Amino acid sequence: MEPNMKKVKDKNILIDSFGRRHSYLRISLIEKCNLRCTYCMPANGIPFTPKKNLMSSDEIYEISKLFVKNGVDKIRLTGGEPLLRKDFEEIILKVKTLGTKISLTSNAILIDRHLHYLRKINQLSINVSLDTLNKLKFKEITLRDEFDNTYENILKLIKGGFNLKINVVLIKGFNDNEIIDFIKFSSDHKVMVRFIEFMPFYGNKWDNSRCVSQDQILNLVKSHFGKDSLIKHNNKKNFIAREYSLKNTNSKFGIISTITNPFCDGCNRIRLTANGKIKNCLFSNNEIDILSPMRNGDPYEHLINLTIKNKLHTRAGMDNFKKLNDPNFHSNNRSMIAIGG
Ligand code: SAM
Ligand code: SF4
Repeated sequence: MEPNMKKVKDKNILIDSFGRRHSYLRISLIEKCNLRCTYCMPANGIPFTPKKNLMSSDEIYEISKLFVKNGVDKIRLTGGEPLLRKDFEEIILKVKTLGTKISLTSNAILIDRHLHYLRKINQLSINVSLDTLNKLKFKEITLRDEFDNTYENILKLIKGGFNLKINVVLIKGFNDNEIIDFIKFSSDHKVMVRFIEFMPFYGNKWDNSRCVSQDQILNLVKSHFGKDSLIKHNNKKNFIAREYSLKNTNSKFGIISTITNPFCDGCNRIRLTANGKIKNCLFSNNEIDILSPMRNGDPYEHLINLTIKNKLHTRAGMDNFKKLNDPNFHSNNRSMIAIGG
C-alpha cells in the first residue's frame, strides 16, 4: 500500500480496530410505537426520553451529513415506529438529499398515508415486520388488533413495486409452525422474507430455548421441500442475512442468524438512537452522547471515532454462548424498541 493511502485510511473516523469500515448508519427516529411486540417492548414499558431531548429533523440531517462526509453511503430510518413522527416526510426527504441509499424499517400500520411521496424516492428499500399470518396470533404477539391494516398495507407495498423485505422474528412454540407458510407467501407474492433469530435485550424474557436457530429453519425447509430444492446464494458484502431460494418456486428467503451464526466479521453498521447517542453495536450498552455537544456547539467527531475504535469484534463482547446466556450482559442494554433494529 502506498504510504499516503495508509494515512488516509487511518484518518477515517469510521474504521474500527479490526479494519471494519462503517458505511451504514441506522438512525432511530422515535422511541414510541403503535405496537407492543413482546420480544421488543418490555411488559412494563420503558421510560421515554422527553421530546425536547430527542433529535429534531434538522439535527438528524446535520448528524447524517457528518457521517456521509466520513464515508457513510447507506442510511436506514427506524424506531420505535418511525412513521409515528409527524415530521417523518420532512426527515426522509431531507436525508435523501445527502445522496446515500436510503431505507426504512416500519411495522407498516401507517404506511398507506405515506405512499404518495415514498414511491418517488429513488433506491428506497423498505423492511416491514410481520411475525405471523394469523390475525389472533398477531394480537397475541403485538398486543394490538392491527393485523388487517398491516397485512393490507404490505400487499399495497408489494403491488406498488417497492423494494420490500418482510422481517419475521421466530419464537419457538409461537410462530415456528409458520415457517413454511411464510416461504409460500414469499413465493406467491415474489417478496423476500427474512427469518430473524430471537435476540436478548433488556426486559424481553429471552432465553435460548425460545430461539429458532438457522439450522432448525434449514432442516425444516429441506424436509418439507426436499433437500435438493434449496439453493444457497453467495453472501453479499457486509451481509446480515444469509439468503436462499427454492427450485421451481419464486420463493426467496433469508436468515438473520445473530445468535447461532453471527456475521460480525463484516459489520459495517453504526447506530444513532433517537436521543442522539451512538451505539457501536446492537448489543453494546456503551453509548456516546453526540447530541449534547452538538447543541452546545462543541466538536463531536472525535467521540464518534472513539466509540468506533472501542467497538469489540463480536456482539459487544458476547463472543460465546455462555456470555450470551448470561443476563448480566444483555440486561444492561436498552430494549430493542429504544435502539432501532
Ligand atoms: N417498528 C419497526 C418495525 O417493527 O419494523 C421498526 C423498529 S423494530 C425495533 C426493528 C426490527 O427489530 C423489527 O424487524 C423487529 O422485528 C426487530 N426486533 C425487535 N426486537 C427483536 C428481538 N428481540 N430479536 C430479534 N429482532 C427483534
Ligand atoms: Fe414496535 Fe417494531 Fe418493536 Fe414491534 S418490533 S414493538 S412494531 S418497534
